[in-house]
Order: sequence, then C-alpha cells, then structure tokens
Amino acid sequence: MDKCSFCGRKRSDVELLISGISGFICNDCTMKAYHIIEEEKKTMEEEADCMIEEVNILKPKEIKEFLDKYIIGQDNAKKVLAVAVYNHYKRIKQEKDDDDDDVEIEKSNIILVGETGTGKTLIAKTIARILKVPFAIVDATILTEAGYVGEDIESLLSRLLQAADYNTKLAERGIVFIDEIDKISRKSDNPSITRDVSGEGVQQGLLKLLEGSVVNVPPKGGRKHPEQELVAVNTTNILFIAGGAFDGVDKKIAQRLNTQTVGFNKRNIEKIDRDNFLQYIAPQDLKSFGLIPEIVGRLPVLSYLEPLNEKALRQILTQPKNSIIKQYKKLFKIDGINLSFEESALYYFVEKAIEFKLGARGLRSICETVMTDAMFNMPSENIKNFRVTLKYAKKMLEKIEKHKLKVA
Ligand code: ADP
Repeated sequence: MDKCSFCGRKRSDVELLISGISGFICNDCTMKAYHIIEEEKKTMEEEADCMIEEVNILKPKEIKEFLDKYIIGQDNAKKVLAVAVYNHYKRIKQEKDDDDDDVEIEKSNIILVGETGTGKTLIAKTIARILKVPFAIVDATILTEAGYVGEDIESLLSRLLQAADYNTKLAERGIVFIDEIDKISRKSDNPSITRDVSGEGVQQGLLKLLEGSVVNVPPKGGRKHPEQELVAVNTTNILFIAGGAFDGVDKKIAQRLNTQTVGFNKRNIEKIDRDNFLQYIAPQDLKSFGLIPEIVGRLPVLSYLEPLNEKALRQILTQPKNSIIKQYKKLFKIDGINLSFEESALYYFVEKAIEFKLGARGLRSICETVMTDAMFNMPSENIKNFRVTLKYAKKMLEKIEKHKLKVA
C-alpha cells in the first residue's frame, strides 16, 4: 500500500502523496524538510558570521612581521599580500555591517610573478597559517575546458569548500591561491590551428570565477557528472591570488623598456637594473606572455618575487623559523645526536644550488643527499656529536650526479 516513506501515513490520511523512484513523501513531510533546509542554511550563515566576528584582525604590519619569520626577503610581495589580506577582512566585515553610504569596497585579486623556488607558494602557505578564513592552494595545470580530459574549472572551488568544511557561506569568504597560472597562457596568437583546450579556454572559464558569479561546484572535485550533486558558490567575495614563473617574461619586459626609452628619456635607460627585469613588470607584459586582457584586468594587483642570490640562499638554510638546517638538527636530536655544520659546508650547499640552477628548491635535495648516509647509520651507532664538514659534504655530493638530484 502507498504510504509516506518519512512519517508512514497512508495515502488516504494525507492531502498529497508525491511519488519518487523508490518511495513516497507526503505534503507535510515536504514542508518539514523544507524548513529543516532553511534552518540549516541559517545556522551556516550564523556560524560564518561568528567566525568573522571573532577574528582578531592582524594589521598589515603585523601580518608582514609574521611572514618575515618564515620567508627571507621578498619585501614587495609580502607587503602587497599583507595589505590584500587585511583589506579582504575589512571587505567581508563591511558586507556584514551594511553601511548605508553606498561605498562598496571591491576585491582586488592578486598576481605574483617570480622564478620557481623563490617562495610564491611558501608565502601563500604561510599566509594560510594566520588566516581565519578558509584557504586553498590549487594548481592551474590540471584544469581544462569542460568536456576534455582534466578537471573542470569549477573544481578550483572544491578545495575551498573542503577547507571550509562544506560550509558554503564560509567558503564564499575564503582565499584561493592558483599556482602556475602562466601554464594556461595562450599557446599561440593564431587560435585556429588547434583547439587550445588548456590555454585560452581555461582562461575564459577562470574569468567567470574571478569576476564574481554564482557557479556550480562539484563538492568532491574532479569532473562534473550528471549524478553528482552540485553546490552553488558565489565567488564575489572570494579573494584569488595567482602565482606563476612566467619563464621568459623578462625578455618581454626588456623589449618594452627598450622601445619605450629609445629616443627620448635616455637617462632612464641607465637607471634600469638589467639583472632583474622582473621588478619592472607591468600588466601589458602578462598580456604579451599570453594571458588574455580580461584576466589581466581581473588581477589588478601585480607583484614580483626577487631571484634568490647567494646571500638569500645562505639565509634560507638557517634563518627561517622552520629552516631546513633547523629541521635536520631536530631530527638528529631525537636520536640524542648534536648536529652541527661548518660554515664552509653551508656555503658549499648554496654554491651547488646555484650551479645546478635549482634555487631554494634545490637546497633541500642537496642537504638530503649529503645527510642520507649519516641518517641511515648513526641511529644504530653510539654517537653524541656529528659535525658536517666541507670535506664530508663534498664527498657525499660528488658520489651522485646532478641529474639524480630530485627537486622537491
Ligand atoms: P615557488 O612557489 O616560488 O616555486 P616555493 O615557495 O615552493 O617556490 O619554494 C620552494 C622551497 O624553497 C620552499 O618550501 C622553501 O623551503 C624554500 N624557499 C623559497 N623561497 C624562500 C624564501 N624567500 N624564504 C625562505 N625559504 C624559501
């Protein structure tokens, strides 16, 4: 006999019985379910408001001081991000406070340009430590236009939803770091040769998210498929930070500077620091690299990361709060071994990182190669002190060849 699968009442006892694939629901239960959903939505909103209310917002200078503990140099990028994050909080609060002066603070998405291994992801990760809003790091390279192998662009937001524990309201105030944005540049100026499914198409899709719109997100990520329930997320208040190496953009910058300065304004040419063109990066260089103008326009804050020189690499080894060397010392200490390094050995690591063109990323692989034997043998030996000398470091590193160094 037909009866409501929720309250169990028979068809004759209710006004209306709606049938589904494998059951029924009566009009009363439908209304109850509707109220439960509304209640749940309200709770989510209240929770999100509470979290923002409770946040003791750090001032930009305090945010930068925090970043300084973990990241060497990169003052420009750190400042830009500190301000952006601070303004992000202010904007969220403003939206809640509902001032009636009609001035609406718009978000300013950010783009960071810098060689690999200069700290873009590290800055983003470190920012995440201080934030009280959900934060997700996603890689642009996995994205393709809908219908092609890869992930839908909306899946960028799946990570954010996960970080927000599936509280949509909270996710809608979050921050997304999109890594390797340069890898979705337009492949060529002639769009007709082949379909550019992972370049311009992805940029067009991304534009929709950056602009602020309501998008349907597959909560578990990946591809959208018909059976999967989608969650509607409004991206208006989500802050996007993009990062990329933009290999070769320095040539475009140089070209632009040269053409600009030829003829008039000759004095400026002399002032240009030819070792680091990135510091002069401007939105039009990103366009010449292959980002569509609309995307560049939606990432109005542009900052760069300096290439790491010898001095910076040496500092990275020991200075940051969880520097590589501090981590090894801790590992050895757990076995009761006091680990130390000769200064010349540390410089040797730096020298090799530069020689192998691995930047800061290479420091860890170099250290790992030098330390592996000791980490294998020493826990079984009764050793109290171990000093890594230049001689020892050279001996360990020369055993392996450059191409075997795995870059983390
Ligand atoms: P990117 O995202 O720019 O390619 P990462 O942030 O992933 O580079 O850097 C790789 C690693 O190199 C980091 O985990 C960190 O150990 C080290 N590193 C890079 N830049 C810095 C820096 N400025 N200060 C401290 N460590 C750094």
